[in-house]
Amino acid sequence: MNVPFVDLKAQYKQIKDEVTAALTKVMENTAFVLGDAVKSFEAAFATHHGAKHCVAVSSGTAALHAALLALGVGPDDEVIVPANTFIATAEAVSHCGARPVFVDASETDYCIDPEKIEPTITARTKAIVPVHLYGQPAEMEPILAVADSHGVAVLEDCAQAHDAAYKGTKVGTFGRAGAFSFYPGKNLGAYGEGGAVVTNDDDLAERVRMLRDHGSAKKYYHDFVGYNYRMSGFQGAVLGVKMNYLVQWTDQRRSAAATYRQVLADLPLVLPPDKDHVRHVYHLFVVRVEHRDAVMAALKDKGVASGIHYPIPLHLTGAYSALGCGEGALPVSERLGGNIVSLPMYPELSDEMIEYVASSLKEALV
Ligand SMILES: *Cc1c(COP(=O)(O)O)cnc(C)c1O
Repeated sequence: MNVPFVDLKAQYKQIKDEVTAALTKVMENTAFVLGDAVKSFEAAFATHHGAKHCVAVSSGTAALHAALLALGVGPDDEVIVPANTFIATAEAVSHCGARPVFVDASETDYCIDPEKIEPTITARTKAIVPVHLYGQPAEMEPILAVADSHGVAVLEDCAQAHDAAYKGTKVGTFGRAGAFSFYPGKNLGAYGEGGAVVTNDDDLAERVRMLRDHGSAKKYYHDFVGYNYRMSGFQGAVLGVKMNYLVQWTDQRRSAAATYRQVLADLPLVLPPDKDHVRHVYHLFVVRVEHRDAVMAALKDKGVASGIHYPIPLHLTGAYSALGCGEGALPVSERLGGNIVSLPMYPELSDEMIEYVASSLKEALV
């Protein structure tokens, strides 16, 4: 049996006709950039996440960048980010001319460790960007408490956490804003690049809206230097269709995760942490094993794909090694980088496939 890491074709088959009709409508209206499809997706996405505003942009990285700029992050500022995340979280900070300050992960959820934030706060700290990693919300209560006590803004990186919730509330508006990605492989994926900023703050939403469109609120009147971060009409149309399936697909991911937990329970590996006060949306199902490279190779021989998210914590990557946060500085993130492995995870993953992954893993681990 072959078990791919993700299977975007399976999902396409389910919604093919609806997507084709939505894309055709964009062409008939020649609404290729922003337009009605994007506008109605923005409204649906804002409502789903309990936010007053959603501003659709061209990628998750653009969403993070525009949100940080709208929060006033600029040269000489510092922004606190986890070391255990995709590089875009830190890149967006760098794009503002600011400096990412890396904080270690917590063993309880692999997200930023709230207790390790305060010692890194300085007079230059402008914002904290917790990442809801692998689909599991970070500990927002203690993070907001430390941010508030120092007058520092919080921007949630929700790129892996569509439809996730913390203590019954959807992610995205715990801090000043939330940034989402609609990269095709994300839990809500476009057919190209896409992203969005959600916020309850009217001014912040307006600044992001202008930043995405060359600093203008009215065509050819440019109040400041902005960017071309607009979402394409096609992406808005695809996302609008997919929005109606998000909860169903998320529940399917959660059910696949529950099955994984049952069939992997007796194997010598560490199952993903799952806090009971969150809705974990399982963008990734990440286990920890000894001798990871050998295990991944054995899985590959069995036709089971796997991945590492992420092999090198950001403070040790070539892009950020010059910041001087060297090896040994963030031990939890470094340990995770050495033994995590992501197993296949997508809504259409069948019980039969999960059982095959488990039996392959069992052989690989002995
Ligand atoms: C995917 C991702 C991003 C970037 O999103 P793009 O749409 O690829 O630019 C940012 N942060 C995290 C945690 C991500 O997983």
